[in-house]
Amino acid sequence: MPKTVSFADKMSKKAEVKICPECGGPVENVLLVDSNRDNPKGTLRFREHFVGVCKCNHKEIYG
Ligand SMILES: [Zn+2]
Repeated sequence: MPKTVSFADKMSKKAEVKICPECGGPVENVLLVDSNRDNPKGTLRFREHFVGVCKCNHKEIYG
């Protein structure tokens, strides 16, 4: 007999959340866009990067 996987099972697998070892809370992946003029030419550059946000660094990220 084939093993059946319910829709709920699939969803729960997809929505797997990382847990922070520091605070035990869920870690959310957030795409941040930084702008900086730190380079010698002074041109504005944008840098995109993913950051894991949990209770530990929530204030740093969102201010
Ligand atoms: Zn944390």
